[in-house]
Amino acid sequence: MTGTTSTHQPKVGIVSLGCPKALVDSERIVTRLRAEGYAIAPDYKGADLVLVNTCGFLDSARDESLDAIGEAITENGRVIVTGCLGAEPDVIRERHPKVLAITGPHQYEQVMSAVHEHVAPPPDKFLDLVPESGLRLTPRHYAYLKISEGCHNKCSFCIIPKLRGDLVSRPIDHVLREAEQLVNAGVQEIMVISQDTSAYGLDVKYAPRTWKGEEYETRFLDLCRGLGELEAWVRLHYVYPYPHVDKVLPLMAEGAVLPYLDIPFQHAHPEVLKRMRRPGQGGDKMLERILKWRADVPDLTIRSTFIVGFPGETEEQFETLLDWMRAAKIDRAGCFKYEDVEHADSRALDGHVPEEVKEERWHRFMEVQAEISAERGQAQLGKIVDVIVDEVDEDRDVAIGRTKADAPEIDGKVELADGGELEPGMIVEARVVAADHYDLWAEPA
Ligand code: SF4
Repeated sequence: MTGTTSTHQPKVGIVSLGCPKALVDSERIVTRLRAEGYAIAPDYKGADLVLVNTCGFLDSARDESLDAIGEAITENGRVIVTGCLGAEPDVIRERHPKVLAITGPHQYEQVMSAVHEHVAPPPDKFLDLVPESGLRLTPRHYAYLKISEGCHNKCSFCIIPKLRGDLVSRPIDHVLREAEQLVNAGVQEIMVISQDTSAYGLDVKYAPRTWKGEEYETRFLDLCRGLGELEAWVRLHYVYPYPHVDKVLPLMAEGAVLPYLDIPFQHAHPEVLKRMRRPGQGGDKMLERILKWRADVPDLTIRSTFIVGFPGETEEQFETLLDWMRAAKIDRAGCFKYEDVEHADSRALDGHVPEEVKEERWHRFMEVQAEISAERGQAQLGKIVDVIVDEVDEDRDVAIGRTKADAPEIDGKVELADGGELEPGMIVEARVVAADHYDLWAEPA
């Protein structure tokens, strides 16, 4: 099929599934599309074609991706698939033979040529100008900053390295330049993302680069140092607890980066961690380090994700995890029941846990987490906190925002009374007056 020729500005619809990392890929594609003069269609009906950026990590995410492709085909008919699931074209073709083209994760060039093939770009590509910082799918006041692609680890339950390849770090001066452009464009909060943020630069042997006349090594600590110079909140996601992470805590204590660490621990029992092939974690030592971090940075928030019912996980090992959670007081935690992902090495492990046991462990985990969260919420009462405003409800005269302890989309919210006149992106001081397990209510301080 060849490109449609028309005089109207061609419109591409985007469906972005999966994690924040996939969202960054979608933003890059949208930036490229807009730079070439395509418009972004707000719905299926107005689009000349629809791009579905898929996730292929868990089976549930694969199903969601396949359903989204099906919906786009029904609603629009002309669909190009990209993203993690795109690395398995046979799976997609089998269910959806009508898709126009399939490309893998971050294959921006291939995505663009597939779009060109099916909807020709307009002759005047300056129809819409692209701002210097690119286009973002997130609200204007926060943005995701992707520092690398791929992953050098071999966690047994994960197929991301197979899908996305080995670690490739972006040069640190490029990352810092992008961050500065985002801040100049009005971004107040930057979320650093990758598959393994603290491994940043390992692949390039921490190559030194120059940024603003100073030498920065392509490594996690220097990245935090550089980002800490910007006038924005800097939030660190997907940090593996390698020993050098301890060096970033002083930057949190002095306010250069947010006192927030998103560390996907997945488990706490050494045997389970070994079978998971998790990098950078030792059970008891990890707990000691967390307690030390908390002593040095008292307002530190730790977010994490865990897997229960991993093959071979015994009741005793699961209880170790619960005890560890209570001792470490993990502030925010997501919990997944182990899923046997196709092509993952963990499928071949012995001792698969029955579904009903996984379910029961999941509920017990969530109960412990709810206790920790409730205690945490009560401890916030009366405190003065900084709140970044995400939305304003003028009718109710409230603003909805987040504290430094809350990342957008995954953590809690704050409802701020008398906030009807505020604007998204503003950072204001507020006093916490009520709390439930996850959210806070506050009034102007
Ligand atoms: S660190 Fe482990 S879980 Fe994360 S992407 Fe790499 S291999 Fe997968």
